[in-house]
Amino acid sequence: EMSLLEKVSESCWQIPAHGTMRVPVIIYGSEKIIQQMDQKVAEQASNVASLPGIVKASYVMPDAHWGYGFPIGGVAAFDPDQDGVISAGGVGFDISCGVRTLLTGLQEKDIEPIKNKLADLLFKEIPAGVGSHGKIHLDKNEMDKMLVGGAKWAIEQGYGKEEDLQRIEEGGCMPGADPQAVSNLAKERQAKEMGTLGSGNHYAEVQVVGKIFDEAIAKLLSIHEGDIVVSIHCGSRGLGHQIGTDYLKEMVLCAQKLKIELPERELACAPIQSDLGKRYLGAMRAGINCALANRQILTHLIRKVFSYFFPNISMPLLYDVSHNTCKVEEHSINGGSKKLFVHRKGATRAFGPGHPEIPKDLKEAGQPVLIGGSMGTHSYILVGTTQSERLAFSSAVHGAGRAMSRSKALKEWKGKEIIKSLEAKGILIRAVSERGVAEEAPLAYKDVSDVVEAAHKAKLAKLIARLDPLICIKG
Ligand code: 5GP
Ligand code: MN
Ligand code: MN
Repeated sequence: EMSLLEKVSESCWQIPAHGTMRVPVIIYGSEKIIQQMDQKVAEQASNVASLPGIVKASYVMPDAHWGYGFPIGGVAAFDPDQDGVISAGGVGFDISCGVRTLLTGLQEKDIEPIKNKLADLLFKEIPAGVGSHGKIHLDKNEMDKMLVGGAKWAIEQGYGKEEDLQRIEEGGCMPGADPQAVSNLAKERQAKEMGTLGSGNHYAEVQVVGKIFDEAIAKLLSIHEGDIVVSIHCGSRGLGHQIGTDYLKEMVLCAQKLKIELPERELACAPIQSDLGKRYLGAMRAGINCALANRQILTHLIRKVFSYFFPNISMPLLYDVSHNTCKVEEHSINGGSKKLFVHRKGATRAFGPGHPEIPKDLKEAGQPVLIGGSMGTHSYILVGTTQSERLAFSSAVHGAGRAMSRSKALKEWKGKEIIKSLEAKGILIRAVSERGVAEEAPLAYKDVSDVVEAAHKAKLAKLIARLDPLICIKG
């Protein structure tokens, strides 16, 4: 498929619709990024372009790499009035995985004398690793309340402040969640996993603002060079994964029954208007609330650790944004406005300035787009642009994206050595698993600076600040 790629501009490429494709594939990225891109991405995005009811194009972000069915870094919108579909594989297994960033009001010099102690205490207080348990155990009744209430529920339980909600998508509580549509197995898996980080590429990171690209917008976001911030990357843990697994099975059967022609089994989906489509939507939204509640509890744990060293610290939330979702949004197509089901898998929503979903005090700036780099490299803060709506239904990158498989990374590096070499650069890693560290080695990812620059040049989002890591807690 890559050979069919046509250059549209310096940062945009397309594969015209052919064969079973209903719309073209549009890939954003520089020449270098396109050359390095996983060959599978173009094929997977072309398969997505063949699904019923897809609108405008099957989009690929500069950080894209192979995923289950849909590429990670893919965006696809479906029209419910044109037999559009919803797909569990198009959302991803870690439903509503996302990033949130907290401001601290501290400077690097404040952290320096206690850096090791801070790293140790964060590592002690944040449950991390495969299948790790938190201190909160939810019974059936409370579980359902959490699945409906999201971060709002967590705050009612004492984890955080009311004003946090204004800085979370959907005000911290995704409407339309249906706990009945979530299996008992999914709920059982989650009962002891609230407020846990998980494993792999999930992290809690203390970062310093290393560079500002746009002073005016940075000021609106209350970030300045030298500021300390804390970022959390994690999702809906066992619950989200089980919802994905459960519904994928059902969607394979549904597609067979309805004779939806799938280029590949992994693209299993259900009509938006079908009973299965509606049940998945209700379950997936419950998964979103689980992720929002989880990040809210982790926020509380992190604030507690910081207040041990800095008793009067407040740590307001800059923003919380998910990158594995399907959301119903109004978008303009063919001169009109239409309600579409926008799948973003490993892609961040990026609403431009003035959008009604953006909190009042950030409206002028545009929606913050929070991007992880890798353990030991830069991360970035961008904001949505007005153009992003037309370019990719208001979407942008979600990270650097993998450049190498986990198994290959394991052969290449030793966790211990990575931790040592990062420590020499002043970056403290606290990780449950050394194997995990090797799998997540910085060089197993694309160069995040190239990726965000490509997103900036394509006008998917605007570069605002670079974050440099000081402490990274890993599963
Ligand atoms: P994903 O959502 O696909 O699981 O991961 C999102 C992104 O997080 C990855 O593409 C990668 O760029 C980034 N990432 C992975 N590990 C780390 C880490 O330890 N620290 C930071 N800052 N970013 C990371
Ligand atoms: Mn993620
Ligand atoms: Mn995740």
